[in-house]
Amino acid sequence: PYEVLIVGGGPAGAAAAVYAARKGIRTGVAAERFGGQVNDTMAIENYISVLETDGPKFAAALEAHVKAYEVDIMNLQRAEALIPAASEGGLIEIKLANGGSLKSRSVILSTGARWRNVGVPGEQEYKNKGVAYCPHCDGPLFKGKRVAVIGGGNSGVEAAIDLAGIVAHVTLIEFGDALRADAVLVSKLKSLPNVSIHVSAQTTELTGAEGKLNGLNYTDRVSGQAHRVELEGVFVQIGLVPNTEWLKGVVELSKHGEIIVDARGQTSLPGVFAAGDATTVPFKQIVIAAGDGAKAALSAFDYLVRLPVV
Ligand code: FAD
Repeated sequence: PYEVLIVGGGPAGAAAAVYAARKGIRTGVAAERFGGQVNDTMAIENYISVLETDGPKFAAALEAHVKAYEVDIMNLQRAEALIPAASEGGLIEIKLANGGSLKSRSVILSTGARWRNVGVPGEQEYKNKGVAYCPHCDGPLFKGKRVAVIGGGNSGVEAAIDLAGIVAHVTLIEFGDALRADAVLVSKLKSLPNVSIHVSAQTTELTGAEGKLNGLNYTDRVSGQAHRVELEGVFVQIGLVPNTEWLKGVVELSKHGEIIVDARGQTSLPGVFAAGDATTVPFKQIVIAAGDGAKAALSAFDYLVRLPVV
């Protein structure tokens, strides 16, 4: 069995693996896709000390760093169930989709999250070519340009306010008949001179030419009329879904499905820690996930050294 088994190989899992291995304890990482979301990222300009890199390069660097230590990397392995230890301090079991199972004295869950897609033509085609999901990451790429934000909940309205300070113009598109964000955010948004808001607006297509996004088509759900907005960027803000479906009923999750952790990354189950985008830790960013992974590994180590000697 492992002493620390990490499920998920994104920035959080990789950092956890390096920190655990440096304690000289038997460490394994099982990941569906090593590198995680960064594989889908183009420019990364906010990982402190790395002025600029791209996703695939960053993912390769994560893997190289983990491989510099004695860590069992089990890539292309999806975890399907967590079976708590029979008694405190006992072995925790992770069942894999391939039928296998792994046992460990402590587990770090770092399965990340995925952005909900709008699911209209053009979205996949222009992903990273104008279609973006993370305003903190990609906002500055659209400096002085026109963008739309799809989604009028808190994250969409926050994104629109944030972007309005950087870009030339923001069009906010909301499917429902009203913005669903907190009133204070909505009134802030409405006070901004370079923002237009469309409610009851159903996005029908993201269009482009020569490999670049150039506009968004939507239908007014009240009048049935079709409209077009010319722009250079679209931020999709209709939800970030944590990859925690398989943990329901086993560890405590928030109403958004995030693993509830305390300041040390401890979950509701003894010996089980969590880190990164899959958790309730606010602000989903690489640098935050990495710091969180380090913290969870140190917490797991702390847990292990306190287990009674058997
Ligand atoms: P993830 O990166 O999501 O990794 C999760 C890991 O768990 C993966 O290895 C996955 O395969 C694995 N996994 C999931 N479910 C299972 C399972 N059941 N069994 C086994 N393994 C599983 N952040 C920035 O700071 N700067 C940026 O410029 C930036 N740009 C971004 C651009 C895009 C397009 C996207 C999508 C995100 C961007 N982010 C950026 C956000 C950043 O990528 C995430 O905050 C970060 O990757 C979270 O790390 P994580 O380790 O928590 O999760």
